[in-house]
Formats: sequence, structure tokens, C-alpha cells
Amino acid sequence: MELRSAEALLLDVVDLHDYDRIVTFLTREWGKKRGVAKGARRKHSRFGGQLQPLGRARVDWMEKDDRDLVRISSVELQRSARGLQQDLEGLLLSAYLSDHIQEFVQENEPSDLFFRLLDSTVQAVVAGVDRSLATRYFEAWVLRLAGIFPVPEVCPQCGRQLEVAGVALLASGESMVCRSCGGAEGGAKQVSPQAVRFLRQIDSAKLVDLDRDRPASSTLDEVERVCTLVRRSFLQHELKSYRVIRETIAGLPGEPNPSPDNH
Ligand SMILES: [Zn+2]
Repeated sequence: MELRSAEALLLDVVDLHDYDRIVTFLTREWGKKRGVAKGARRKHSRFGGQLQPLGRARVDWMEKDDRDLVRISSVELQRSARGLQQDLEGLLLSAYLSDHIQEFVQENEPSDLFFRLLDSTVQAVVAGVDRSLATRYFEAWVLRLAGIFPVPEVCPQCGRQLEVAGVALLASGESMVCRSCGGAEGGAKQVSPQAVRFLRQIDSAKLVDLDRDRPASSTLDEVERVCTLVRRSFLQHELKSYRVIRETIAGLPGEPNPSPDNH
């Protein structure tokens, strides 16, 4: 048995039996962890009020080599993300950020860059940075950190430098290539110079800086389509929270409903 302690970002909290909860959390040192918080559902639990999704906390836990689930002994909330969970859109966004980390970060692997990305994105959104911009920034960076979506600088097929106005996304979503390589493969889609510029900019610019000179919403929509295709091509499935977001947006009153079946 080994006692560990780390600063963590809480990803998910679900009930277990009548009295306990399972908490998934992200650490810099050991990546993603899942543990049982015994008695967390009881009225006067020591975990009371501490288990907030996307909150940053000091977590102490016991580990046994042969167990997947660790045993959490204490959680001390340092920063709440409640500001993000006051409305439906914010709740969906929280689930979406958390879903990415749960899908792309491994257990027991150092994950400092993922930690910093999630931490800074949550802070920026709580501070009022445009949610759509923050989401596109986050999803593109997750793909980059996972090593499946590099900065669009060089065509991976022919090795030529990519011109901002000469980039296409393969229909498979596997990579971004130059237009001549894209033309050779059926169904490759041109990517606008604005979207290519955004995908380059996020390499060096911080979210708050990008928010000051925010890209057009059509550019952000395009980045969303590109990232969705790349992510799906890699995972071979869609993130559950993304499906929920699409369905919720389609079903919101006053929003145009793209599906003719519902008329
Ligand atoms: Zn090429």
C-alpha cells in the first residue's frame, strides 16, 4: 500500500452504491486516476462540497499495485469551477472538456501538458473568455498533445511547406495535406486560410490574447468540423458529450432545427 498526494483536476464524479462515490481525476505526475471516496454520499461526509467537476483540488489517496481503483482519503478543493456550471451550455462544455481528457490521457503516465491545458482553459472560461473560442482551442490542442494533429506547416505526404491558402483535409480525417496531394485523393476538403492561421496561432498565443482579436465564428465553426473529423478518425467513435451537445443545440427552442424528420 502506498500513500500518494497530488494537485488534481476533478474530471468526473459518479455515485457508487448507497454511500460512496467514484472520482476520476487528472494529475501531472500520474495522469488519470480513478478512486473511491468512501462515504461521500453521506450527509456529513468529509468530502462534502469538495467533489466539484473541473475543480482543482489537493487529493490524497492510497494505492495498491493490483487494483485499478485507488482509495481516496481526502479532497481539499482549491479552486471551484462553479462559474462554469450555472447554465446548460456551461454544463455541457464541462462534460466535453472532461470527456477529452478521459479519452486521451492514460492512467499512470505523466501528463503535465494535458494538466496545464485543462487548467488554463477552465480558468480562461471562468474568467469570461469566449466559450466557443476556448473550446476550439482546447480540442485542437488535445489532438496536438495526443500526437495526431500537428501544426499545419509541412505536408506529411510530399514534405513540401504548406501555404496558408493551400491546405486540404483528407476525407478520412487522417491529416492535413497540400492541395496537390489532396487533389490526388478523392474527397479531400479545402481548409480556409483563416482556419489554417488559427491552427498555427494556437501554438504560441494564449487564449486571452486570441480572445482580444477573436476569429470570425465561421472560422471557429470550420475548426470545429476539422477537429471533429480528425478526432473521429483516430478514435473510431464520437465523444458521447459531443453527441449530446449537438442534439441539445438542435433541440433548443428558437434554434433552427437541421433535421427535417422533426417537422
Ligand atoms: Zn503534399
